[in-house]
Amino acid sequence: MKAATHNLFKRILEKVQPPPDMTLAEWADAYQRLPSKTSAEPGQWRTSRVPYMREIMDAISDPRTTRIVVMSAAQVAKTYALILNPIGYYMHYDPCPIIVVQPNVKPMAEAFSKEKLAPMLAETPVLAGKVNDKNRNSGNTIYHKDFPGGYVTIVGANSPAGLRSRSARVLLADEIDGYPPSAGNEGDPLLLASKRLTTFWNKKEVFISTPTIKGVSRIEVEFENSTQEIWHVPCPSCGELQKLEWGQVSFDREDLTEIRYICIKCGVVDSEVAWKELYSNGQFVARFPEREIRGFHLNSLASLLVEWEDIVKKFLQANDEKKKGNIEPLKVWTNTEMGETWEEEGKEMEYEPLYLRREKYNCEIPNEVLYLTAGVDTQDDRFEIEVVGWGVERESWGIKYQIISGDLKLQDVWDRLKAFLQQTFTKADGTKLKIIRTCIDSGGHYANEVYKFCKPLYPNVVPIRGRDGFDVPYIPRPSKNNRLQVYLWTLGVDTGKYLIYQSLAVEYDDEKAVNANYCHFPRDAGTGYNEDYFKGLTAERMIRTYKKGIAQYVWRLKEGGTKRNEPLDCRNYAQAALEISGVVLKKTERAENSGAPVKKRGRGVRGQGV
Ligand SMILES: [Zn+2]
Repeated sequence: MKAATHNLFKRILEKVQPPPDMTLAEWADAYQRLPSKTSAEPGQWRTSRVPYMREIMDAISDPRTTRIVVMSAAQVAKTYALILNPIGYYMHYDPCPIIVVQPNVKPMAEAFSKEKLAPMLAETPVLAGKVNDKNRNSGNTIYHKDFPGGYVTIVGANSPAGLRSRSARVLLADEIDGYPPSAGNEGDPLLLASKRLTTFWNKKEVFISTPTIKGVSRIEVEFENSTQEIWHVPCPSCGELQKLEWGQVSFDREDLTEIRYICIKCGVVDSEVAWKELYSNGQFVARFPEREIRGFHLNSLASLLVEWEDIVKKFLQANDEKKKGNIEPLKVWTNTEMGETWEEEGKEMEYEPLYLRREKYNCEIPNEVLYLTAGVDTQDDRFEIEVVGWGVERESWGIKYQIISGDLKLQDVWDRLKAFLQQTFTKADGTKLKIIRTCIDSGGHYANEVYKFCKPLYPNVVPIRGRDGFDVPYIPRPSKNNRLQVYLWTLGVDTGKYLIYQSLAVEYDDEKAVNANYCHFPRDAGTGYNEDYFKGLTAERMIRTYKKGIAQYVWRLKEGGTKRNEPLDCRNYAQAALEISGVVLKKTERAENSGAPVKKRGRGVRGQGV
């Protein structure tokens, strides 16, 4: 009786304050419950069911480690072990602000909160009652939950507002390969989220993902920058520690009842059961143990939650599809089962399909166009200019691509540029339109001349300067910090190019009245949209690289392609001109205002989510 009372007292005490120096795995084994509705094995969490997770979880609670990277197969219990367990641990044991990032707000952030987080908060006794969800005045929502000493905020990588909203000490970034390169027009979501942690000396970043395509996979680059720890298990016959590799799996495709694994050292073929019995003796082996960032790799052969028969079956199906010319299932299998990136030729935009889809306007401007903007690229011996028409929901029409040649030291070429920009264009219905805003590149040798040209034409014509990097805001506030004191915009051109390529990839749908973001190009004589234009528009490709040790997306000229990328720059500046003009092109506004969308003050915001 006395002992029972003592134990009860001890348990109550532990509920209030867990013992000191607990690792995350110890905490989860003591307190974490798997919800009855969503778990295959509800009840007490047991790290022994996922032995490879112990070291990863403990790396998260290790105060010496700031960043933990996990590149893995899909079915290894990573969301529970590496997102939910840390949330519970910090809520109960080390309260602090936490941000969870999912690839998008809906459905993923919402589903995570409702289907994973809420059941855990309800069923894990030490967490129950910490978040007041019942009181409407508590400020708690699906996406934000306060608890004593901290909060957990769940955001989508496609939502710049969410990524900006709060700072945190712990960042749990899930499925980072699903993040867009830019959150809206504000740059790399992972960088934006990491910036929220900079004020905390004891910050923690956990990056998790199933990898995607080599060259654009975020998680692979993060992993390459880390200790590169791979899960090893001992051979049942000789005890040699080895990583689990697909090439060592032995099976008869006519009879999958006996799938075996060949030891890399002794060559003995043992059964799945024999190998899996020793998984509890597995350990991670690091390629670069001296590195600060802990990185872990796991494939589904290591998972006790997956039978090898499933992996082999999926492989055989994917392989059959490949023989039929469908490569997608094998890509998916490589990513989700092997936890490895798929190597393919760099993703880029081909010029031919765009060139071939040109259409006859039979007029200067189609009737759907509401506004015209222009972008001017400045070279020493010429201007290259594109005039773009914008319709509802940013459906766009290339109107004219013009080159004005001449020595920029002489006044004549500037006069011709001015005349070109001030001309009037005519719609099919006879309506006249002028260019509402032009952005001129001032980055060349003629910066002062560009400022001088723009000053009397402000605000219709403004100078811009391009800056590389997805961490540069697309349209920041202009500065007047130049000799002539004209407003100068420094554009985040990488984000601009990304938005252009996204729009170029949109396919036309005849069924729709409005094809949001679709780009039309004319075939009509004299418009300037020739083959060279399209080669220039698609001259660059986006690749993943390192910048000061941080993985980032950058734009590079295609190898073997044209170096004349002015059409891409011109489109970028014309698109920026629309942003700077501040007009909003929403569907409903057009219906209500019959072709006159509402003007908005200040900086424009791209209406379409990424
Ligand atoms: Zn062996």
